[in-house]
Amino acid sequence: MSRIEIPQDHPRRISLETREKAIEGYENHVVATAGLLAHGRGEAFDYLIGEITTSQAKVAIRAAVAKLLLAKHPVISVNGNICALVPNELVRLSDLTNARLEINLFYYQKEREDAILHQLRTAGAERVLGTHDRPSETIPELSSNRRKVDSEGIAIADVVLVPLEDGDRTEALRAIGKYVITIDLNPMSRTSVFSNITIVDNVVRAMPLMVEEAREMLTWSTEKLYAVVTNFDNNENRAISINLMIEHLENRAREAMEVQQL
Ligand code: ATP
Ligand code: MG
Repeated sequence: MSRIEIPQDHPRRISLETREKAIEGYENHVVATAGLLAHGRGEAFDYLIGEITTSQAKVAIRAAVAKLLLAKHPVISVNGNICALVPNELVRLSDLTNARLEINLFYYQKEREDAILHQLRTAGAERVLGTHDRPSETIPELSSNRRKVDSEGIAIADVVLVPLEDGDRTEALRAIGKYVITIDLNPMSRTSVFSNITIVDNVVRAMPLMVEEAREMLTWSTEKLYAVVTNFDNNENRAISINLMIEHLENRAREAMEVQQL
């Protein structure tokens, strides 16, 4: 339950409700302190794209879902922020694409792992990898806790969805040969640059759409799914996403000039 009542007609209702979820996640030990800062950075970039799922984000979402459905061992990497914001969609997407859920934390704390596990289980997850009692391996490129990956999860995965990831880890995952899909509102972050598919959208909008697409694309032939992936070019995708932000800002600048002329 939200601690504050946000009026239905409030112009920034969805953004405020999402922020409340992040704060609630923080209070329940799901979200790290730095996670709140990352959320704020996301909010700023969301403003720049007009807080909508762009047509280009929809193209990237389709490519991402096609790739997950084609994968042999897809894995969805779960951190505090994504778990606090869209726990139900994580479980649904995992079920539909046969992708395993693996908890992978930038700031490890046993308490946080337990809180995330609890929230995933409440959302219906039956199997969750990446917990401290699981067999693990290490990614050579990274230091400390962030090296650890589950032996039956990311270690053997061919495709990894890392919604809201840090650039260092994304680069490391690429270095060990993983195909990386991310959802990141900043098309210029290192995560966005290193990933094979970057969905420039808010996870609260993108994840429900991914679930919807997965449900539809489940019936598609391998050839049709393959065509969607091969037609996708992430450099072009990022360039279009950045240009959409520029376009949005130009429109806002024009509006600002009109206000002054009144
Ligand atoms: P990088 O490490 O990739 O260069 P960074 O250091 O700027 O990026 P991090 O804190 O490592 O950022 O990762 C958080 C990323 O997640 C940021 O790019 C931020 O814009 C993005 N982000 C935060 N909240 C959301 C959200 N709700 N939906 C999508 N993206 C988000
Ligand atoms: Mg970072």
